[in-house]
Amino acid sequence: MSVCLVTGASRGIGRACSVELARAGWDVAVNYSRDEEGAIETARLVQSLGRRASLFRGDVSSHEESRVLIENVERELGPLDVVVLNAGITKDGLLMRMSEEDWDRVLDVNLKGVYNVAKWAARAMMRRRSGRIIAISSVVALTGNIGQANYCASKAGIIGFVRALARELSRYGITANVVAPGYIQTDMTEHLPNEVKENLTRSIPLGRLGTPEDVASAVSFLAGKGSAYITGQVLPVDGGMSMGALT
Ligand code: NAD
Repeated sequence: MSVCLVTGASRGIGRACSVELARAGWDVAVNYSRDEEGAIETARLVQSLGRRASLFRGDVSSHEESRVLIENVERELGPLDVVVLNAGITKDGLLMRMSEEDWDRVLDVNLKGVYNVAKWAARAMMRRRSGRIIAISSVVALTGNIGQANYCASKAGIIGFVRALARELSRYGITANVVAPGYIQTDMTEHLPNEVKENLTRSIPLGRLGTPEDVASAVSFLAGKGSAYITGQVLPVDGGMSMGALT
């Protein structure tokens, strides 16, 4: 039996990863912070594919809640093989209008949350000398974006953090990689005005915004047997956006 944990799995990319991993044969620990209804729906989708799913409430920005999360997942579902560090938020604003509170909260959830959950998950995986850590960053970690200094910093931080983990944990048979999505159609990008979406679409070589399923396929690959020799890498899933414009 193989168990994975997806943080922030009540909707969007986290839900799609849960479903795709279930399809690939994993039992899924569905983490959520507040949206219990959404998490129940994710669990239902996993179960409809014949896999086990359990709900685990917990705020990833809390070191202690993250410790309890990993403990509870292993108690209820068994040894954790794969962790998908997906939970994330935005609090956008130009630097001069960005409050300290908005800076702190985005860094706390997106970057400290990755540290918190990865740390406790890695502790469990080290004992068994195997495991996969997959963190969801963003294309803007590589390119920057106006109005997202806090978000870009948190997502760039994830890349450095995961590369350090890849080196530290390789001797324990644990790999650590990053998936960097481009613009994906979820609640997070729902509020963008149509004009912005149209301009964005024009800047994407493949000519469309991504879907949560596009990201989930890459995550499933990194969780599977076929990626055993890949660690410390950043895999953009962005329709070619991060290649930059032709000059
Ligand atoms: P979303 O807002 O639809 O989902 C985010 C999920 O994280 C939700 O389930 C939310 O409840 C959960 N969450 C938020 N704070 C949490 C906390 N403190 N503890 C536990 N869970 C928490 O967003 P999404 O588009 O599905 O994004 C998922 C991940 O992908 C995020 O890390 C996001 O930064 C990243 N990403 C998204 C896009 C995009 O275009 N949508 C692009 C690049 C990267």
